[in-house]
Amino acid sequence: MKILVASVLILVGSCSTFRHSEKIDNLKDSIQFNDKVVIEQYLSTIEIEELKYHVEEVSSDKYNGRMTGEKGHNEVCNYIRKYYASQNIKAPNTHPNYYQKVPKEVLPDDLNDSQNIIAYIEGSEFPNEYIYITAHSDHEGVIDGEIYNGADDNGSGTAAVLEMAEAFSKAVKGGHGPKRSIVFLHVTAEEVGLHGSRYYTDNPIFPLENTVSTLNIDMIGRVDDKHKNNENYIYLIGADRLSSELHFIAQKANTEFTNLELDYTFNKEKDVNRYYYRSDHYNFASKGIPVIFFFNGEHEDYTKPTDTADKINYPLLAKRTKLVFATAWYLANSPQRLNPEII
Ligand SMILES: [Zn+2]
Repeated sequence: MKILVASVLILVGSCSTFRHSEKIDNLKDSIQFNDKVVIEQYLSTIEIEELKYHVEEVSSDKYNGRMTGEKGHNEVCNYIRKYYASQNIKAPNTHPNYYQKVPKEVLPDDLNDSQNIIAYIEGSEFPNEYIYITAHSDHEGVIDGEIYNGADDNGSGTAAVLEMAEAFSKAVKGGHGPKRSIVFLHVTAEEVGLHGSRYYTDNPIFPLENTVSTLNIDMIGRVDDKHKNNENYIYLIGADRLSSELHFIAQKANTEFTNLELDYTFNKEKDVNRYYYRSDHYNFASKGIPVIFFFNGEHEDYTKPTDTADKINYPLLAKRTKLVFATAWYLANSPQRLNPEII
């Protein structure tokens, strides 16, 4: 009798496993990049030299390590918003100078007022649905007389967002503007405790319930020790926590366009590094918004004054930026809004 019960249970178990794998296969099959040639056209506008230009600018000594609330950080924010203006990428109507003030009352220590920067491209079919591409703009400032340039952390992410914004704006001009709106958000005060993104998600400019997904970039220009012999990789964190579809969209974007090794080591629930909780995407995820954190892992210059622009691997930065762009493109243009469910 015991044996019989066990075999019935096995039968039931394998049936539901079968149904589950069929569901997964159907989900994977439903993700199709039908406009591959068009996407490739705009991926090709993400250029190594332009990324290098932005990284060198934002991590240069003149900005004194971009400490939140200090003159150097404010000047870098000005560089970022001027770039959007120069590309004719809009500021929100409610924040016409691209800035959302983050008041010193919500910041730690004795930091001064700071700001998040918001630019966006309005969707042609679903303008009230939003895809966010985010990166923090601040770094650690000057410590013991040494400038912390933060070229990887997060000059690389800042440059990637600017370059993707340019690519999407070229797509608009070419008649291939996104169906959903794309928001380019540069948050402040990440290094001192994710405060800029927390302030934004507590005081969103566009309704959070209309936010489809947030793609966050924090360090994508270097190679960690684990991958010294295979630099063609990126860590993805969080993609499958709130939406199975998001996980497979990123995978499909990668197989179609970039062929990086997607490393999920840090996505494990029990990973001791807890990176899922340690950058700005988490403030979106904690409000139920599906996120992906794109990350290269730590390296010998992480949080050191030696994280400088000459050490960035620019071809790799370009490739990783293209993966984020292709993922964002799909999210912005898919016929159905991303399904925020785990199957
Ligand atoms: Zn960072």
